[in-house]
Amino acid sequence: MLGEIRGEVRFKEPLSFHTSLRIGGPADIFVVPQDVEDIRLALGFAEREQLPVEIVGGGNNLLVRDRGIRGVVLKLEGCLGRADFRGEEAVAGAGVGLSALIREAAALNLGGIECLVGIPATIGGAVAMNAGTPDGWIGDFISAVYFLHPDGTLGEFKPNNGSFGHRAFFAPPGAVLVGARLQLHRRPQAEIQKDMRQRLKHKKSTQPLALASAGCVWKNPQSEVAARLIEKVGLKGKRHNGAEISAKHANFIVNRGGATAADILGLMEITRERVQNHFGLTLEPEIRIMGDK
Ligand SMILES: Cc1cc2nc3c(=O)[nH]c(=O)nc-3n(C[C@H](O)[C@H](O)[C@H](O)COP(=O)(O)OP(=O)(O)OC[C@H]3O[C@@H](n4cnc5c(N)ncnc54)[C@H](O)[C@@H]3O)c2cc1C
Repeated sequence: MLGEIRGEVRFKEPLSFHTSLRIGGPADIFVVPQDVEDIRLALGFAEREQLPVEIVGGGNNLLVRDRGIRGVVLKLEGCLGRADFRGEEAVAGAGVGLSALIREAAALNLGGIECLVGIPATIGGAVAMNAGTPDGWIGDFISAVYFLHPDGTLGEFKPNNGSFGHRAFFAPPGAVLVGARLQLHRRPQAEIQKDMRQRLKHKKSTQPLALASAGCVWKNPQSEVAARLIEKVGLKGKRHNGAEISAKHANFIVNRGGATAADILGLMEITRERVQNHFGLTLEPEIRIMGDK
């Protein structure tokens, strides 16, 4: 079955090559599918061999543990990379880059989603995480999501009010998102571009974009800002081997070189404990943690 896959199949592939943190042990079986049929074959193989499946989009929100992943990892960046525009709608494959989609839409005087500019993501990863900023979440623009069930059947899902949560999309269990339909709005390209420049400038001045990270580590607790809490407990800039709670934005942990997942998890543990002790608040990770303990 694996032999029928037309995309790439690799064994013991280091996931540090596929995460923005540059951290992560090997995936036993690593598949970069070429199309939906390849995904179906990989899911069928995993089902037959009773192996777990993990999905990686662009790997921008992932912490993969040092021992890696036993099972099948499907990497969708570089696959399903086509976007089509019809009227004020876009239909994008799960592997389309979010920034590329925003730029293509802007060139057609279609906007709305420019509030998501600068978020490194594939469409699949952005939908799965309901990526966004306080100015807008991708879920606000999604009119349909297309996915493959673990048994290989295709499904279409029309989101309603409860479909997206804070950094979450409540997809059917085990579903692989293969595409989405987005509702855009007419807006002159020049206005969109001006807006994007301002947003990117703000992002650059507030986030440690020059260093490897996975974005915000923690969800903001109700009516609080995680970065502020971490700063108040004196952990901004705290280092553990190659890992650092960013001195620029305390909700980022950066890999300054040679950091392991254990280093990041160590800093997370200290942070969780300190914030719990000082404020009685339990921080919940926003980053997705995968792999063998
Ligand atoms: C410098 C930096 C800045 C960031 N700023 C922001 C920000 O402002 N706002 C924000 O929301 N996020 C931000 N992030 C986090 C990250 O960009 C988002 O979470 C993004 O949505 C991740 O997309 P991805 O394709 O890389 O997904 P991945 O990190 O690869 O995966 C994330 C999750 O989605 C699942 N997934 C991915 N693709 C699929 C699929 N096709 N089907 C089913 N499940 C799937 C994965 O299994 C995983 O659980 C930032 C990250 C970095 C590094």
